[in-house]
Amino acid sequence: MKDLSISKTKKKKDENPKMSAKKLQQQKKKIEGAALIGIDVAKEADLGECYILESASYAIWESIKSWFDAQIETLKREKEHVEGFAAEVAWVTKGDCYVPYFAKKIQSDRDLPLKLNQWNNVVRWEFKHPMPFIRSREFLWQEGHTTHLTKEEAGAQVRQILDWYADVYQELLAVPVVKGQKTENEKFPGADYTTTIEGFIPATGRGIQAATSHCLGQHFSKMFNITNSWGLTTRSIGVMILTHGDNRGLVIPPRVAEIQVVVIPVGVTVKMTPEAKAALHKQVQDIADDLKSVGVRVETDYREGYSPGWKFNDWELKGIPLRIEFGPKDAEKGVVTTSRRDIDNKDEARGEAKVDEVKEAIPKLLEQIQSDMFNRADKAYREHRVQLTDWKGFVPALNNKSVVLVPHCEGEKCEDQVKEFSAKKDDGDNVAEDAKAPAMGLEGIKQGETKCINPECGNFAKAWVLFGRSTKARNRWIWEG
Ligand SMILES: [Zn+2]
Repeated sequence: MKDLSISKTKKKKDENPKMSAKKLQQQKKKIEGAALIGIDVAKEADLGECYILESASYAIWESIKSWFDAQIETLKREKEHVEGFAAEVAWVTKGDCYVPYFAKKIQSDRDLPLKLNQWNNVVRWEFKHPMPFIRSREFLWQEGHTTHLTKEEAGAQVRQILDWYADVYQELLAVPVVKGQKTENEKFPGADYTTTIEGFIPATGRGIQAATSHCLGQHFSKMFNITNSWGLTTRSIGVMILTHGDNRGLVIPPRVAEIQVVVIPVGVTVKMTPEAKAALHKQVQDIADDLKSVGVRVETDYREGYSPGWKFNDWELKGIPLRIEFGPKDAEKGVVTTSRRDIDNKDEARGEAKVDEVKEAIPKLLEQIQSDMFNRADKAYREHRVQLTDWKGFVPALNNKSVVLVPHCEGEKCEDQVKEFSAKKDDGDNVAEDAKAPAMGLEGIKQGETKCINPECGNFAKAWVLFGRSTKARNRWIWEG
């Protein structure tokens, strides 16, 4: 499972050679945003690149955990219908005890399949360039280990887990990912094969490994038949932050936001009587209570001595998906004013809902925010996946912060060669291909006819392979859509 740990990267300076000042600023804000929910204490205390997960980020992890637990619970139920096999799903609290556990539990084929999952933390000794959630000394993860009688059954399980990981990203974190299989060079050493989901950071144009699910085959232990392993880490929160954050800070998708809505009283003047102010606060509280009653996670902000504008900024920085403002003018009209965090333009972000309809309108608006966030990120990813059959466009596309989908022979040496060629920052032809991401698919490669993209290779292509400029080595994988 070392595959999931985060490998070394180049110096940041080399990583972003053409990053504009604006993008840099944006990137900086995102990191500051991350610090809001995972405070870096390394400078204050000698803890060595440790991060503390504040409740906002731990809440995200908790929602991933409860969703994923509910899915793996179904594995247990499914197996009860399989003749002769006892269903076993165990939750183990101490790391790396699964091998002796398997040895003890599996006496014969009749004891298969056996499935284990655990939620725990990992501490790494060796790593460089700490970055909240993306690379840290310690992180949280989920690791699963299963054993199966047949390759088919193990294969189906590997895919099932990968689908669930994709759902965690897409359905909960509103982060688009693509599924695929790692190339021979990139798979977990010794594994039969490694499946992967990969995200994309638009600001840097780099792919990022989101989660992996391996079929280890019999390499690790013949006695356990076919073994799988799979894992997901708190890096997922980092990918979410980098995908959605903007120059005002964090933007958290409603489904995982600890606080989905903040209600702020506005229009309070010095002339206002204490009674009128109390009445306004009462109305604000009623709105919040209405929302709570339909399951919305809501907070109110009555802090004295801060202007509404200051409060707006404060909640925006923390990425709270929706703000509700309520003042005397709104009260007269019987409405609340809404402001969406995910829309940059202030006027476009604003809306209204009738006070007596907030129970229906606000949950609906939150779902709208969730799907709009996903769709925007998905569009950005699609626009930066360029399908090519000609080498000429390869490096320019990478320079244009895209990942490229190309026919490839799947040869390991050829892959290294392509990597070497594409590592060159500039080959003199820096004109970006004007490629609007075409429809992807496995069509178009004719076995024994379509050539590998590498002009020096000469072999026939076997599959579409996605290449991206590397923040790390593991960003080439066989496209599966
Ligand atoms: Zn080749």
